[in-house]
Amino acid sequence: MNPAHWHGKPYYSLDAYLKNTYGEKLYKIAVDAGFTCPNRDGTLGRNGCIFCSAGGSGEHAVRLLEHHTVKEQLNAGIAMFSHKRIGQRYIIYFQAYTNTYGSPELLDTLYTQALENPDVAGISIATRPDCITEDIVTLLVNIWAKFPDKFVWVELGLQTIHQATAEFIRRGYPLSTYDNCVRQLHQAHIPVITHLILGLPGETEGHVLAAIDHVNQSGSWGVKLQLLHILSGTDLAALYEQGLCQPLSQESYTDLVISCLEHLDPNIVIHRLTGDGSRSLLLAPLWSLNKRNVLNTIHHTMKQRAAYQGRLL
Ligand code: SF4
Repeated sequence: MNPAHWHGKPYYSLDAYLKNTYGEKLYKIAVDAGFTCPNRDGTLGRNGCIFCSAGGSGEHAVRLLEHHTVKEQLNAGIAMFSHKRIGQRYIIYFQAYTNTYGSPELLDTLYTQALENPDVAGISIATRPDCITEDIVTLLVNIWAKFPDKFVWVELGLQTIHQATAEFIRRGYPLSTYDNCVRQLHQAHIPVITHLILGLPGETEGHVLAAIDHVNQSGSWGVKLQLLHILSGTDLAALYEQGLCQPLSQESYTDLVISCLEHLDPNIVIHRLTGDGSRSLLLAPLWSLNKRNVLNTIHHTMKQRAAYQGRLL
């Protein structure tokens, strides 16, 4: 992607992509559709990934089950966010837990009813690659075919490419599962957004850049770079309280995220550069609560260094 289409940022942001593609910003509404996760329901484990909060990393999400119909649920979500409405249309983000972990009938109902809303431009479905079967890919393709002017994205929580770290955080699937899943979705023309966590225990800049390189080769359309948040009540918090886990400083995070961007394919869309954890649960790093400052510091430092996405690719 030509930097002339990045709307002044030194990287290809989701905002730039949406303005280029839809001519406007789309507002994202995160929803909790009442799913669980194989790392929570006993299929793979009961305690979840070590960083995951009891809400399945969906504390900002509108809880769909508190409303009777999907239409009411979406209207509640739109009403909750209307005070900061900056666009005319919405992305429904199925965020909490694993949003393909249900019967095909349930998935079809939830996705279809979200896409039927005339104010919804598309849906983004957060899930695990081991919860995307061939049947689910077919289901997604069929849903998208019913709404060809809308979009269906899939977000995969990869977090790391390193097996030792994956075992430490209890992710529960090998890297090959992610690779196969992205390949299948890519063949079906369904855009994939890969989530990576920066600052995982034991990972150096070299580990993270290897993950960036892997994502460059994977066929992923977008990436979310997420600062490791230590949230109250998690097993990671227990390690932190024992002094066994150190959060990144803002300076280290700024350097690391810029390094990632400079090694990232300039065609990959950046969906997130900060953390997105719950304010009320966050134990560390507290500097990340000021998101505007985090982003401004990254932008300012990139400008000072003449850095931009893909410069070192
Ligand atoms: S897979 Fe996702 S929802 Fe499940 S425990 Fe891990 S982070 Fe939480």
